[in-house]
Amino acid sequence: MMRPMPVFDVCAHDREIAEQIEHAIMRVVRSGWFILGREVERFEETFADYLGGGFVVGVGSGTDAIQVALIVTGIGPGDTVITVPNTAVPTVSAITAVGAQPIFVDVDPATALIQPERIEEAIKPDTRAILPVHLYGRAAPMDQILEIAGKHGLAVIEDAAQAHGAYWRDRKVGTWGDLGCFSFYPSKNLGAYGDGGAIWTAEAEVAQRLRQLRNYGQADRYRHVTIGINSRLDEIQAAILATKLPHLEMWTQKRRTLAETMRQRLSDLPLTLPARADGETHVHHLFVVRVNNRDRVRRAMEERGIRTQVHYPIPIHLQEAYRYLGYRAGAFPQAEAWCLETLSLPFSPAMSENDLSLVTDALAEAVVP
Ligand SMILES: *Cc1c(COP(=O)(O)O)cnc(C)c1O
Repeated sequence: MMRPMPVFDVCAHDREIAEQIEHAIMRVVRSGWFILGREVERFEETFADYLGGGFVVGVGSGTDAIQVALIVTGIGPGDTVITVPNTAVPTVSAITAVGAQPIFVDVDPATALIQPERIEEAIKPDTRAILPVHLYGRAAPMDQILEIAGKHGLAVIEDAAQAHGAYWRDRKVGTWGDLGCFSFYPSKNLGAYGDGGAIWTAEAEVAQRLRQLRNYGQADRYRHVTIGINSRLDEIQAAILATKLPHLEMWTQKRRTLAETMRQRLSDLPLTLPARADGETHVHHLFVVRVNNRDRVRRAMEERGIRTQVHYPIPIHLQEAYRYLGYRAGAFPQAEAWCLETLSLPFSPAMSENDLSLVTDALAEAVVP
C-alpha cells in the first residue's frame, strides 16, 4: 500500500531550504544561548517589517499570543469578549484562561468569517473586546469591525494564526486592530519546528509591556513590575522562522496559483468552492470546500489514498468543555452548518500538478455517489 497523501507535509514544504534550516539550528546550538537572545530580536524585527511596521513580540504559541494580548488589554474576570464558534479551540481557551467569558456570534454563510451585522446585538455592558478570526487564511471584514469597536469603545484583538501575510484592503491582517496574534505551529503558513507565536502592536509602550508579561513580569533582571507568565519564542525556533520568512511571499504566491488551478478543476462538481470576497487577499492556509455527506466523501477519498481533515467538526459552543456557557444546538445555525459540511483538502505550496490531480480526481469520484 502506498502511504496516503497527507493534508500537509512539513518536510516536503521545507525541502528546498532544509540545509539552511539545519545551519540555523546548529548556529544556535553552538552559541549556547537558547532563550531571549539575538535570534528572537532579529526575527521580531524582520516579522514586523514584513507586516508593514510596528512591533512584534515573540511568545511560546499562538494560544499564548491571544492570552497575553488579552492580559495587556486589561481583560479578566467579569469581562466578556466577542468571537466566533467555528474556530480552533485556543481562540476561546485563551479568553477563558484570563478569567473572561466568550460571547459567540454567528458567521457569514459564504465565508465562515464573523458576521459584522451580528456583533452589535451581542455587545453587553461588560464586553471589552472583539476577537475576529481570519479563518483559513482569509481576512475578516475589518472596516465594519473597527467601526463597531470604535463606537462602543471596545478593543480589537485579531486572531491571525492562519493568515500570515493576508491583506484586508491595503494592509496585512493582524495590524488593523489594537493587537494581532500569530501562531507558528509547524503546519501554519509560517511554521516553526515546535511551538511558537507572536503578537503585533503599533505602540512601543505596549510592546514593552508584552515583553515583560512573557518573561515573568520582569522589567530588568529580578525586578518584577507586573504579574506575568513564562511564554517565550525560543532562539532555535526564531532562527528557523527567520530562515523561512524570506520565502513566505513566494510560498503564498504558489498557494494562490495552486488554489486557482484547484478551483478550475473542481468547478463542475456538486460542492461549494471557497467564496471570493471583496477587499481581501486570501493566503489559502487551507483549501476548504463544502460538501453534502461530508463524512462519506472523506471515507471515499481515504480509500483512494487521499487524507482530508475537518476544520472544525464541533463548534465551540457545543464542545463538552464549554457546556457551562449554556448555549444550545441551533444557537448559531451558520457556524453549525459549516461544521457539518466543511472539508479541508491536501494543500501546500510543495504540491505538484500531479499531486493536485490526484486530489481533484479522488474528490470528483467521491462526491458522485
Ligand atoms: C493554530 C491556531 C491557534 C493556536 O495556535 P497555537 O500556536 O497552536 O497555540 C489559534 N487560533 C487559530 C485560528 C489557529 O488556527
